Amino acid sequence: TRTPLIAGNWKMNLDHLQAVATVQKLHWTLKDAGHEGDSVEVAIFPPFTDIRSVQTLIDADKIPFALGAQDISAHDSGAYTGEVSGAFLAKLGVTYVIIGHSERREYHNETDEVVAAKVQAALRNGLVPVICVGETAEDLEKFGASAVPAGQLKAALAGVPASANIVVAYEPVWAIGSGQAATPQQAQDVCAALRGVIAESLDADAAARTRVLYGGSVKSTNIASFLREPDVDGALVGGASLVVDEFAAIVRFEK
Ligand code: 13P
Repeated sequence: TRTPLIAGNWKMNLDHLQAVATVQKLHWTLKDAGHEGDSVEVAIFPPFTDIRSVQTLIDADKIPFALGAQDISAHDSGAYTGEVSGAFLAKLGVTYVIIGHSERREYHNETDEVVAAKVQAALRNGLVPVICVGETAEDLEKFGASAVPAGQLKAALAGVPASANIVVAYEPVWAIGSGQAATPQQAQDVCAALRGVIAESLDADAAARTRVLYGGSVKSTNIASFLREPDVDGALVGGASLVVDEFAAIVRFEK
């Protein structure tokens, strides 16, 4: 009963003009392929500067893609130069917000506490946090695959009510942009462990309802193998989401 979510995280790629062209092209590619939107949800996470343009296009042409942001401020307004408020994102028709991506943890020193505060900011503003967790190659060697992501998720869910609408993304850091994806079994094992954390931190109903995505070198050639796993409910796609034909093929993983 969990609708698969295919999410394209563009990272810092495509300006607003390129974004409009890309979303239009993706929409028409899927339409031409006879893709029916009902069985899969598609979400696009462009840079902040693109969001208004993409939102206008999606609205005008009734394009069935959800819109997401790649980050959010922990605060809703005030003297926080350079930050972007969840309230502003919500007003732009944004549905999802990526929180705690490994690139933000690594390059912007985002701690588990910062991630938890941003999750609260998202929920406060009616946005669905896409909470990213994952172990480095070094973590994997020292602690195995599940311990670090499970700990990160537990911290992110502190104070989150059981009724909250959230998405979790398991992205092993060693698999991001490396061309070396986890195996479907590895993804399944950690996604199942993360669902266990949701059950413990929230409740059984939340665990059954919440989508847990896999991310890290997802391509059109491996997507189906991940989505065959019972606890993998979609994918967070980086590089391959920038190539329209490739991303369309990922969205059409059932074909
Ligand atoms: P790649 O798909 O490029 O490996 O990136 C994954 C990712 O970080 C998505 O958030």
